Amino acid sequence: MTQDPIPLTDLLPGEIAAALGLKPFQGNQIFRWLHQKRLCDFDAMTNLAKPLRETLRARCIPCQIEPVKTSDSPGGTRKVLFRLRDGETIESVLLRDRDRVTLCLSTQVGCPIKCLFCATGQGGFARNLTPGEIVEQALRLLENEDLEGRTPNIVYMGMGEPFRNYDAVAKSIRLLMCPEGLGIGARRITISTAGDIPGIRRFAGEPWQVRLAVSLHAANDDLRSKLVPLNRKYGLRTLMATVRDYAKATGRQVSFEYVLLHGVNDSPAQARELAGLIRGLDAVVNLIAYNTVAGAEFSAPPTAVCETFKKALLDSGVKATLRQERGGDINAACGQLRRASKNNEKAKNGD
Ligand code: SAH
Repeated sequence: MTQDPIPLTDLLPGEIAAALGLKPFQGNQIFRWLHQKRLCDFDAMTNLAKPLRETLRARCIPCQIEPVKTSDSPGGTRKVLFRLRDGETIESVLLRDRDRVTLCLSTQVGCPIKCLFCATGQGGFARNLTPGEIVEQALRLLENEDLEGRTPNIVYMGMGEPFRNYDAVAKSIRLLMCPEGLGIGARRITISTAGDIPGIRRFAGEPWQVRLAVSLHAANDDLRSKLVPLNRKYGLRTLMATVRDYAKATGRQVSFEYVLLHGVNDSPAQARELAGLIRGLDAVVNLIAYNTVAGAEFSAPPTAVCETFKKALLDSGVKATLRQERGGDINAACGQLRRASKNNEKAKNGD
Protein backbone atom coordinates (compact mmCIF):
# COMPACT_ATOMS: atom_id res chain seq x y z
CA MET A 1 0.00 0.00 0.00
CA THR A 2 1.39 3.42 -0.86
CA GLN A 3 0.87 6.15 1.69
CA ASP A 4 0.07 9.75 0.95
CA PRO A 5 3.19 11.90 1.14
CA ILE A 6 3.54 13.87 4.38
CA PRO A 7 3.56 17.67 3.96
CA LEU A 8 6.25 18.46 6.54
CA THR A 9 5.43 22.15 6.96
CA ASP A 10 2.06 21.20 8.53
CA LEU A 11 3.95 19.67 11.46
CA LEU A 12 5.72 20.84 14.62
CA PRO A 13 9.15 19.28 15.38
CA GLY A 14 7.71 16.61 17.71
CA GLU A 15 5.07 15.71 15.14
CA ILE A 16 7.70 15.32 12.41
CA ALA A 17 9.65 12.93 14.63
CA ALA A 18 6.50 10.97 15.53
CA ALA A 19 5.27 10.73 11.92
CA LEU A 20 8.59 9.30 10.74
CA GLY A 21 9.59 7.32 13.84
CA LEU A 22 12.62 9.54 14.47
CA LYS A 23 14.36 10.82 17.59
CA PRO A 24 13.13 14.21 18.90
CA PHE A 25 16.42 15.92 17.97
CA GLN A 26 16.00 14.78 14.36
CA GLY A 27 12.53 16.34 14.28
CA ASN A 28 14.16 19.58 15.48
CA GLN A 29 16.88 19.38 12.83
CA ILE A 30 14.39 18.91 9.99
CA PHE A 31 12.17 21.69 11.31
CA ARG A 32 15.15 24.07 11.48
CA TRP A 33 16.11 23.33 7.87
CA LEU A 34 12.58 24.07 6.71
CA HIS A 35 11.84 27.12 8.88
CA GLN A 36 15.18 28.74 9.71
CA LYS A 37 17.22 27.92 6.58
CA ARG A 38 13.97 27.94 4.59
CA LEU A 39 15.07 25.13 2.28
CA CYS A 40 12.83 23.10 -0.03
CA ASP A 41 15.51 20.59 -0.99
CA PHE A 42 16.17 17.54 1.20
CA ASP A 43 19.59 17.00 -0.38
CA ALA A 44 20.79 20.33 0.96
CA MET A 45 20.00 19.29 4.56
CA THR A 46 23.59 18.30 5.08
CA ASN A 47 23.55 17.35 8.77
CA LEU A 48 20.99 14.60 8.15
CA ALA A 49 22.34 11.11 7.44
CA LYS A 50 21.95 10.05 3.82
CA PRO A 51 19.42 7.26 4.53
CA LEU A 52 17.26 9.76 6.41
CA ARG A 53 17.39 12.17 3.48
CA GLU A 54 16.30 9.30 1.24
CA THR A 55 13.39 8.48 3.55
CA LEU A 56 12.34 12.12 3.49
CA ARG A 57 12.50 12.20 -0.30
CA ALA A 58 10.42 9.03 -0.58
CA ARG A 59 7.76 9.85 2.00
CA CYS A 60 7.54 13.62 2.47
CA ILE A 61 6.84 16.91 0.72
CA PRO A 62 9.16 19.76 1.77
CA CYS A 63 7.14 22.60 0.23
CA GLN A 64 3.47 22.99 -0.63
CA ILE A 65 3.56 26.34 -2.39
CA GLU A 66 5.67 27.80 -5.18
CA PRO A 67 6.16 31.47 -6.09
CA VAL A 68 5.04 32.18 -9.66
CA LYS A 69 5.05 35.96 -9.83
CA THR A 70 6.70 38.69 -7.77
CA SER A 71 6.21 42.43 -8.00
CA ASP A 72 8.31 44.95 -6.11
CA SER A 73 7.49 48.60 -5.55
CA PRO A 74 10.12 51.29 -5.01
CA GLY A 75 8.86 51.72 -1.42
CA GLY A 76 10.04 48.20 -0.63
CA THR A 77 6.67 46.45 -0.78
CA ARG A 78 6.88 43.02 -2.33
CA LYS A 79 3.85 41.09 -3.48
CA VAL A 80 4.11 37.42 -4.38
CA LEU A 81 1.63 35.18 -6.16
CA PHE A 82 1.96 31.52 -5.15
CA ARG A 83 0.73 28.40 -6.89
CA LEU A 84 -0.53 25.54 -4.70
CA ARG A 85 -0.16 21.86 -5.52
CA ASP A 86 -3.73 21.68 -6.89
CA GLY A 87 -3.09 24.65 -9.21
CA GLU A 88 -4.98 27.22 -7.10
CA THR A 89 -3.27 30.55 -6.46
CA ILE A 90 -2.96 32.83 -3.44
CA GLU A 91 -1.02 35.97 -2.72
CA SER A 92 1.02 37.43 0.12
CA VAL A 93 2.75 40.73 0.78
CA LEU A 94 5.96 41.83 2.47
CA LEU A 95 5.82 45.43 3.68
CA ARG A 96 8.75 47.53 4.89
CA ASP A 97 8.15 50.44 7.21
CA ARG A 98 11.32 52.14 8.47
CA ASP A 99 13.07 49.24 10.22
CA ARG A 100 10.02 47.01 10.48
CA VAL A 101 9.12 44.10 8.21
CA THR A 102 5.49 42.96 8.13
CA LEU A 103 4.22 39.88 6.32
CA CYS A 104 0.60 39.78 5.21
CA LEU A 105 -0.63 36.20 4.86
CA SER A 106 -3.66 34.57 3.20
CA THR A 107 -5.75 31.93 4.97
CA GLN A 108 -8.10 30.77 2.22
CA VAL A 109 -8.21 30.50 -1.57
CA GLY A 110 -10.74 33.27 -2.21
CA CYS A 111 -13.15 34.28 0.56
CA PRO A 112 -16.73 33.38 1.49
CA ILE A 113 -17.50 36.75 3.18
CA LYS A 114 -17.77 38.89 0.02
CA CYS A 115 -17.36 42.42 1.39
CA LEU A 116 -18.64 44.78 -1.29
CA PHE A 117 -15.36 46.67 -1.77
CA CYS A 118 -12.96 43.69 -1.60
CA ALA A 119 -11.53 42.04 -4.73
CA THR A 120 -10.98 38.68 -3.00
CA GLY A 121 -14.66 38.07 -2.31
CA GLN A 122 -15.61 38.98 -5.87
CA GLY A 123 -13.47 36.11 -7.08
CA GLY A 124 -15.50 33.57 -5.04
CA PHE A 125 -14.33 30.98 -2.51
CA ALA A 126 -12.47 27.78 -3.41
CA ARG A 127 -11.01 26.18 -0.25
CA ASN A 128 -9.22 26.55 3.06
CA LEU A 129 -5.44 26.61 3.20
CA THR A 130 -3.49 24.03 5.21
CA PRO A 131 -1.27 25.16 8.12
CA GLY A 132 1.82 24.58 5.96
CA GLU A 133 0.41 26.58 3.05
CA ILE A 134 -0.09 29.48 5.47
CA VAL A 135 3.35 29.30 7.14
CA GLU A 136 5.21 28.75 3.87
CA GLN A 137 4.01 32.16 2.64
CA ALA A 138 6.14 33.65 5.42
CA LEU A 139 9.06 31.30 4.71
CA ARG A 140 9.10 32.06 0.98
CA LEU A 141 8.61 35.83 1.47
CA LEU A 142 11.67 35.83 3.75
CA GLU A 143 13.76 33.58 1.51
CA ASN A 144 16.19 36.24 0.29
CA GLU A 145 15.58 38.64 3.11
CA ASP A 146 18.36 39.54 5.53
CA LEU A 147 16.42 40.29 8.69
CA GLU A 148 19.58 41.50 10.50
CA GLY A 149 18.26 40.21 13.78
CA ARG A 150 14.84 41.82 13.42
CA THR A 151 11.71 39.76 13.96
CA PRO A 152 9.01 40.22 11.35
CA ASN A 153 5.42 41.09 12.24
CA ILE A 154 2.69 38.86 10.87
CA VAL A 155 -0.79 40.03 9.91
CA TYR A 156 -3.49 37.60 8.77
CA MET A 157 -4.94 40.18 6.39
CA GLY A 158 -4.44 38.60 2.99
CA MET A 159 -7.10 36.61 1.18
CA GLY A 160 -9.77 34.87 3.22
CA GLU A 161 -11.52 34.99 6.58
CA PRO A 162 -9.10 33.49 9.16
CA PHE A 163 -11.84 32.44 11.60
CA ARG A 164 -13.56 30.38 8.89
CA ASN A 165 -10.39 28.27 8.84
CA TYR A 166 -9.77 28.37 12.57
CA ASP A 167 -7.88 25.13 13.21
CA ALA A 168 -5.37 25.57 10.39
CA VAL A 169 -4.83 29.22 11.33
CA ALA A 170 -4.27 28.32 15.00
CA LYS A 171 -1.79 25.62 13.99
CA SER A 172 0.04 28.03 11.67
CA ILE A 173 0.44 30.42 14.61
CA ARG A 174 2.02 27.67 16.70
CA LEU A 175 4.36 26.87 13.80
CA LEU A 176 5.37 30.54 13.41
CA MET A 177 5.94 30.89 17.17
CA CYS A 178 8.02 27.69 17.48
CA PRO A 179 11.55 28.59 18.74
CA GLU A 180 13.07 25.98 16.38
CA GLY A 181 11.57 28.00 13.50
CA LEU A 182 10.95 31.71 13.04
CA GLY A 183 10.20 32.07 16.77
CA ILE A 184 7.83 34.99 16.27
CA GLY A 185 6.41 36.44 19.49
CA ALA A 186 2.63 36.27 19.90
CA ARG A 187 2.37 40.05 20.29
CA ARG A 188 3.83 40.46 16.80
CA ILE A 189 0.99 38.45 15.26
CA THR A 190 -2.43 39.93 14.41
CA ILE A 191 -5.53 38.08 13.24
CA SER A 192 -8.05 40.17 11.32
CA THR A 193 -11.70 39.12 11.15
CA ALA A 194 -14.73 40.51 9.34
CA GLY A 195 -16.64 39.77 12.58
CA ASP A 196 -17.03 36.00 12.87
CA ILE A 197 -18.58 35.68 16.35
CA PRO A 198 -17.79 32.01 17.09
CA GLY A 199 -14.20 32.68 16.04
CA ILE A 200 -13.80 35.71 18.31
CA ARG A 201 -15.22 33.73 21.26
CA ARG A 202 -12.87 30.83 20.66
CA PHE A 203 -9.94 33.17 20.20
CA ALA A 204 -10.70 34.79 23.58
CA GLY A 205 -10.02 31.41 25.23
CA GLU A 206 -6.58 30.90 23.66
CA PRO A 207 -3.63 31.03 26.05
CA TRP A 208 -1.48 33.24 23.83
CA GLN A 209 -1.10 37.02 23.43
CA VAL A 210 -1.88 37.11 19.69
CA ARG A 211 -3.66 40.34 18.75
CA LEU A 212 -7.19 40.71 17.38
CA ALA A 213 -8.30 43.17 14.69
CA VAL A 214 -11.95 43.54 13.71
CA SER A 215 -12.90 44.98 10.31
CA LEU A 216 -15.73 47.39 11.10
CA HIS A 217 -16.09 49.83 8.14
CA ALA A 218 -19.41 51.21 9.42
CA ALA A 219 -20.88 52.13 12.81
CA ASN A 220 -24.55 51.38 12.09
CA ASP A 221 -26.27 48.20 10.95
CA ASP A 222 -27.86 49.63 7.79
CA LEU A 223 -24.56 50.57 6.25
CA ARG A 224 -22.50 47.72 7.67
CA SER A 225 -24.96 45.11 6.39
CA LYS A 226 -24.48 46.54 2.90
CA LEU A 227 -20.68 46.61 3.04
CA VAL A 228 -20.06 43.42 5.04
CA PRO A 229 -22.85 40.90 4.34
CA LEU A 230 -21.88 38.90 7.46
CA ASN A 231 -23.41 41.76 9.48
CA ARG A 232 -26.87 40.53 8.46
CA LYS A 233 -26.17 37.42 10.49
CA TYR A 234 -24.44 39.03 13.48
CA GLY A 235 -25.45 42.67 13.89
CA LEU A 236 -23.30 45.33 15.52
CA ARG A 237 -24.87 44.81 18.97
CA THR A 238 -23.76 41.19 19.05
CA LEU A 239 -20.39 42.00 17.48
CA MET A 240 -19.57 44.78 19.93
CA ALA A 241 -20.78 42.77 22.93
CA THR A 242 -18.53 39.89 21.83
CA VAL A 243 -15.55 42.22 21.37
CA ARG A 244 -16.15 43.75 24.81
CA ASP A 245 -16.26 40.24 26.33
CA TYR A 246 -13.02 39.43 24.51
CA ALA A 247 -11.35 42.58 25.84
CA LYS A 248 -12.52 41.84 29.38
CA ALA A 249 -11.43 38.19 29.27
CA THR A 250 -7.99 38.87 27.80
CA GLY A 251 -7.15 42.40 28.98
CA ARG A 252 -5.79 43.03 25.48
CA GLN A 253 -6.22 46.10 23.28
CA VAL A 254 -8.39 45.52 20.21
CA SER A 255 -7.85 47.15 16.80
CA PHE A 256 -10.64 48.07 14.45
CA GLU A 257 -10.03 48.40 10.75
CA TYR A 258 -12.07 50.95 8.86
CA VAL A 259 -11.68 51.29 5.09
CA LEU A 260 -12.59 54.86 4.11
CA LEU A 261 -14.93 54.92 1.10
CA HIS A 262 -15.62 58.37 -0.30
CA GLY A 263 -19.18 59.59 0.24
CA VAL A 264 -20.12 56.27 1.90
CA ASN A 265 -18.58 56.12 5.40
CA ASP A 266 -16.16 59.08 5.55
CA SER A 267 -18.11 61.99 7.11
CA PRO A 268 -17.23 63.59 10.48
CA ALA A 269 -20.71 62.63 11.76
CA GLN A 270 -19.92 58.99 10.93
CA ALA A 271 -16.61 59.34 12.78
CA ARG A 272 -18.50 60.50 15.87
CA GLU A 273 -20.96 57.60 15.51
CA LEU A 274 -17.96 55.27 15.39
CA ALA A 275 -16.49 56.89 18.49
CA GLY A 276 -19.79 56.31 20.30
CA LEU A 277 -19.79 52.65 19.33
CA ILE A 278 -16.37 51.89 20.79
CA ARG A 279 -16.48 54.22 23.81
CA GLY A 280 -14.96 52.69 26.93
CA LEU A 281 -13.02 49.99 25.03
CA ASP A 282 -9.21 49.90 25.02
CA ALA A 283 -9.03 50.12 21.24
CA VAL A 284 -7.31 51.74 18.29
CA VAL A 285 -8.96 52.44 14.94
CA ASN A 286 -6.77 51.88 11.90
CA LEU A 287 -8.13 53.92 9.01
CA ILE A 288 -7.22 52.69 5.54
CA ALA A 289 -8.00 54.73 2.43
CA TYR A 290 -9.82 52.47 -0.03
CA ASN A 291 -7.54 50.79 -2.52
CA THR A 292 -9.17 50.90 -5.93
CA VAL A 293 -10.54 47.61 -7.23
CA ALA A 294 -11.29 47.47 -10.96
CA GLY A 295 -15.02 47.38 -11.61
CA ALA A 296 -16.06 48.45 -8.08
CA GLU A 297 -18.20 51.52 -7.58
CA PHE A 298 -16.13 53.04 -4.74
CA SER A 299 -13.37 55.61 -4.59
CA ALA A 300 -10.84 56.70 -1.98
CA PRO A 301 -11.58 59.97 -0.17
CA PRO A 302 -9.16 62.88 -0.75
CA THR A 303 -6.41 62.95 1.87
CA ALA A 304 -7.97 65.99 3.60
CA VAL A 305 -11.23 64.08 4.14
CA CYS A 306 -9.30 61.15 5.66
CA GLU A 307 -7.43 63.53 7.97
CA THR A 308 -10.68 65.21 9.05
CA PHE A 309 -12.22 61.81 9.83
CA LYS A 310 -9.17 60.87 11.90
CA LYS A 311 -9.26 64.20 13.75
CA ALA A 312 -12.96 63.72 14.59
CA LEU A 313 -12.07 60.37 16.17
CA LEU A 314 -9.13 61.82 18.11
CA ASP A 315 -11.30 64.75 19.30
CA SER A 316 -13.81 62.18 20.59
CA GLY A 317 -11.08 60.48 22.60
CA VAL A 318 -10.49 57.51 20.25
CA LYS A 319 -6.98 56.42 19.27
CA ALA A 320 -6.65 56.35 15.48
CA THR A 321 -4.04 55.85 12.75
CA LEU A 322 -4.36 56.63 9.05
CA ARG A 323 -2.68 54.48 6.43
CA GLN A 324 -2.64 55.36 2.76
CA GLU A 325 -2.37 52.05 0.92
CA ARG A 326 1.34 51.79 0.19
CA GLY A 327 0.99 48.79 -2.04
CA GLY A 328 -1.52 50.38 -4.40
CA ASP A 329 1.07 50.86 -7.09
CA ILE A 330 1.80 47.16 -7.37
CA ASN A 331 -1.72 45.81 -7.06
CA ALA A 332 -1.14 45.15 -3.37
CA ALA A 333 -4.75 45.58 -2.33
CA CYS A 334 -6.36 42.41 -1.11
CA GLY A 335 -6.90 39.99 -3.97
CA GLN A 336 -5.83 42.15 -6.85
CA LEU A 337 -2.65 40.49 -8.08
CA ARG A 338 -4.37 37.15 -8.35
CA ARG A 339 -7.22 38.74 -10.25
CA ALA A 340 -4.86 40.48 -12.64
CA SER A 341 -3.13 37.19 -13.40
CA LYS A 342 -6.44 35.34 -13.79
CA ASN A 343 -7.58 38.00 -16.25
CA ASN A 344 -4.35 37.56 -18.20
CA GLU A 345 -4.96 33.82 -18.35
CA LYS A 346 -8.47 34.45 -19.62
CA ALA A 347 -7.13 36.84 -22.25
CA LYS A 348 -4.56 34.22 -23.30
CA ASN A 349 -7.19 31.51 -23.53
CA GLY A 350 -9.41 33.82 -25.53
CA ASP A 351 -12.38 33.68 -23.11
N1 SAH B 1 -11.39 38.64 6.21
C1 SAH B 1 -10.56 39.36 7.15
C2 SAH B 1 -9.10 39.48 6.74
C3 SAH B 1 -8.75 39.77 5.30
S1 SAH B 1 -9.08 41.39 4.67
C4 SAH B 1 -11.16 40.72 7.44
O1 SAH B 1 -12.16 41.08 6.84
O2 SAH B 1 -10.65 41.39 8.32
C5 SAH B 1 -7.96 42.45 5.49
C6 SAH B 1 -8.40 43.91 5.51
O3 SAH B 1 -8.31 44.48 4.20
C7 SAH B 1 -9.86 44.06 5.97
O4 SAH B 1 -9.99 45.09 6.90
C8 SAH B 1 -10.52 44.41 4.65
O5 SAH B 1 -11.74 45.06 4.87
C9 SAH B 1 -9.48 45.26 3.97
N2 SAH B 1 -9.71 45.48 2.54
C10 SAH B 1 -10.30 44.66 1.65
N3 SAH B 1 -10.38 45.23 0.42
C11 SAH B 1 -9.81 46.45 0.53
C12 SAH B 1 -9.59 47.53 -0.40
N4 SAH B 1 -9.97 47.43 -1.68
N5 SAH B 1 -8.99 48.63 0.08
C13 SAH B 1 -8.59 48.73 1.37
N6 SAH B 1 -8.75 47.74 2.28
C14 SAH B 1 -9.38 46.62 1.87
